[in-house]
Amino acid sequence: MDCPSEADWLEGRLNEFRRRLVHWFRKNARDLPWRRDPTPYSVWVSEVMLQQTQVEKVVGYYQRFLERFPRVEVLAAAPLEEVLRLWEGLGYYRRAVNLWKAAQIVAKDFAGQIPADLTLLCRLPGIGHYTAGAILSIGFGKPAPIVEANSRRVLTRLTGLGKPSAGKDLDRKLWTIAAQLLPRRHPGEFNQALMELGALVCLPEKPLCLICPVRQFCRAYQTGQFDLPAANGARPVEHQSVVVPVVIWGRKLLLRRCGPEERWAFLWDFPRLSDVSAEDPAQLIHKHLAEPLGLKIRKVTDAGSLVHFVTRYRIKARIIIVEVSPQSRPSAGQLGKRAAGLKTATGSANLAAGSTTDGSIPALDTKAKAEAPQAGPVASERQALPRDSQWQWINAEELHKLPLPAPSRKISQIALDFRFGHGQPQRKIWHDQTRGSPK
Ligand code: SF4
Repeated sequence: MDCPSEADWLEGRLNEFRRRLVHWFRKNARDLPWRRDPTPYSVWVSEVMLQQTQVEKVVGYYQRFLERFPRVEVLAAAPLEEVLRLWEGLGYYRRAVNLWKAAQIVAKDFAGQIPADLTLLCRLPGIGHYTAGAILSIGFGKPAPIVEANSRRVLTRLTGLGKPSAGKDLDRKLWTIAAQLLPRRHPGEFNQALMELGALVCLPEKPLCLICPVRQFCRAYQTGQFDLPAANGARPVEHQSVVVPVVIWGRKLLLRRCGPEERWAFLWDFPRLSDVSAEDPAQLIHKHLAEPLGLKIRKVTDAGSLVHFVTRYRIKARIIIVEVSPQSRPSAGQLGKRAAGLKTATGSANLAAGSTTDGSIPALDTKAKAEAPQAGPVASERQALPRDSQWQWINAEELHKLPLPAPSRKISQIALDFRFGHGQPQRKIWHDQTRGSPK
């Protein structure tokens, strides 16, 4: 089926369609902070945060982020660690890394001015066609189309291009239609209206057609066929099990910074060992962590488990408190060197950091798929990213300064309560309800 032109589908009523949709949007749009006085930078930040993340969750993060980094230069000059700390809990941390890297490129190569050009935008790390379209149309007022999950659903139904007529090139057709629909004046408002209609009215399961402002233009409404293009089948939940040694010396905890290819790249985390061998955790820790790192274990205590979800993985983390003797406490530098040996000594099979060998946790889909990271045209990053994992001892009181994955933050609280809290320690299983990291 050929891509219908707007004349085919709307039968000459394009202006009326636009008018109805925008009128509805002006009356019904949610009052969201990024909609007030949008700039290219604020649109960029909000769109990156909104990838695969619910609007309600983003609001607070967006406000704190913009307060601390009000302009692209401020973001570019900030340490990555601080950016990640503010992002903590929002998940998909690679988004934050890419945003920070792209901000550095904009600051250096574009004198702090976000380029108003589709090609240049799409060359920045983490910016794809959709985010670029949002920055251009909403931030700059340029006529650039947007097709994302909500507007895709609306357009598919309006045009009747859903199953079974959906061809392989459905996306190309939808982008073409989205461009045809765009008005010259206020294209950003029109794009937001289309997305908002999908978010509030044209719902995936039960579209609210009776209150839809454009139902008279809708082929799905006319035919009763609300088919959507076949979605990629949801992948089944995978169960995984890890041992998380919380190594304690005095009031210091041992942390490692995840390497760039790992699930939680550049965040700090406790070492994680794949729990696949039914080995006693104490033996596992001794063999795969303490011995290679030169730690002398004084006491090992089981502090319970934390069950948490990371995308489609259900992970049971067994929290083991490992107290080490003061004489054996290696420095961070020594740990780094020995940890490099740890990889070769064990084939990294048991350091569950993202590799897939021997049952350790595979790298996850860390980035919103629609916006796969792009290689920058100008790889000029003023602040180098660490190439390997790093280790450090950190005082329990200073833990809040470091960016940790949300489950690891919880693990730290459980472990510290267990080790230093008052009253009788209790082993139990906690269930983390905050599904999603590394979203
Ligand atoms: S009429 Fe129904 S299916 Fe069509 S766009 Fe409106 S809500 Fe969606």
